[in-house]
Amino acid sequence: MPLELSEGAYSLRGIKVADLCEQYGTPVYVYDTETIKNQYELLIKSFKGANIKVKYACKALTNPNILRYIKSLGAGLDTVSIQEVQIGLAAGFEPADIIYTPNNVSLDEIKQAVDLGVHINIDNISILEQFGNYYGSKVPVCIRVNPHIMAGGNVKISTGHIDSKFGISIYQLRHVERVVKTTGIRVQGVHMHTGSDILDVGVFSRGAEMLFDVARDFKDLEFLDFGSGFKIPYKPGDMGTDVQELGKTLSVRFNEFCKEYGRDLELWFEPGKFIVSEAGYFFAKVNVIKQTTATVFVGIDTGLNHLIRPMFYDAYHHIINVSNPTGTERIYTVAGYICETDTFAWDRKINEVREGDILAFYNAGAYGFTMASNYNSRPRPAEVMIYNGKDHLIRKRETLEDLNRNVVEVEM
Ligand SMILES: *Cc1c(COP(=O)(O)O)cnc(C)c1O
Repeated sequence: MPLELSEGAYSLRGIKVADLCEQYGTPVYVYDTETIKNQYELLIKSFKGANIKVKYACKALTNPNILRYIKSLGAGLDTVSIQEVQIGLAAGFEPADIIYTPNNVSLDEIKQAVDLGVHINIDNISILEQFGNYYGSKVPVCIRVNPHIMAGGNVKISTGHIDSKFGISIYQLRHVERVVKTTGIRVQGVHMHTGSDILDVGVFSRGAEMLFDVARDFKDLEFLDFGSGFKIPYKPGDMGTDVQELGKTLSVRFNEFCKEYGRDLELWFEPGKFIVSEAGYFFAKVNVIKQTTATVFVGIDTGLNHLIRPMFYDAYHHIINVSNPTGTERIYTVAGYICETDTFAWDRKINEVREGDILAFYNAGAYGFTMASNYNSRPRPAEVMIYNGKDHLIRKRETLEDLNRNVVEVEM
């Protein structure tokens, strides 16, 4: 963990957290690039037996500086909107290194992506048909299938189950074949992304076998895209997906499949969380300690507007008191300042918290800032990146002017 306690003070790569909060104010998101690099390299090394390509799912953390850093590591990009495609291109990614995997977007938006030259991933038969009628064999596509496996325990972040809106059911492949044959579409890849937080390597393997089955039906493939789903540890003692184990077993199976298929394919993954979650910390200041009849609330200077994951899908974020590392542990309920219930954590053991202390949230690199809003007319926090041993402001804290920028005043 890059957040370290030494000589009584917490620091990130040698930079004191207290100094960061002083300089940039709170709340603030801070990202450690070295952690991003370590995660990326762990994945690459684990799959060194196969021809792996990592397409970072940039919806997790979209700051262009982070994108440029991830590009420098050698990764491509997974994008889910035309705006993400544009941000990726502006950050210097080659169109050929970007895959566009939207859901429920118009054919119009897909045509814009085609014009920008990125790989197109199609996840419903209606659009596949329209795409084929319009482009014929001129523009290759990847097809997103839904294997109907319930991966991970949380329905809100699982995308492969039977009620999911994502992908084309594997039971509809006969229909897909008809559309492909009739329109002449070239299928260059098949894709599945069954959700997040998959711990069991066996689930990946079952998914992989299903993807191989689908792949056998298409003769001109260049890659198989296994999506993401890697679980990362949240709580002390938590396990993440064993990517080394996964890399070993899946690489062997993948290479066997390529032999059988008769061509060397690329093995794609699209991790978001795995790459950036642990690299990010969210620091907030304690405004109020409030003893109620039921608990002791720690009220902080942020809320679900800045970090929605706990309220949105019961995500666990480990929280420590940076300002009082040796204080007696007590039990707290950590809550935000939004006029809405915005509890970050119930019944958490934290070193005694005092008004003015700084709390650190772990695992704040993914789906933190990118899901932030202006609810309660609060500006969004600043973003800071630790790079080459130094801290860099990579997004300014918003102001009231930013919030009102698009307001049009009507005379009355
Ligand atoms: C969100 C998403 C990912 C990344 O998921 P993580 O759980 O952050 O790794 C990958 N692929 C697609 C298509 C996605 O929508």
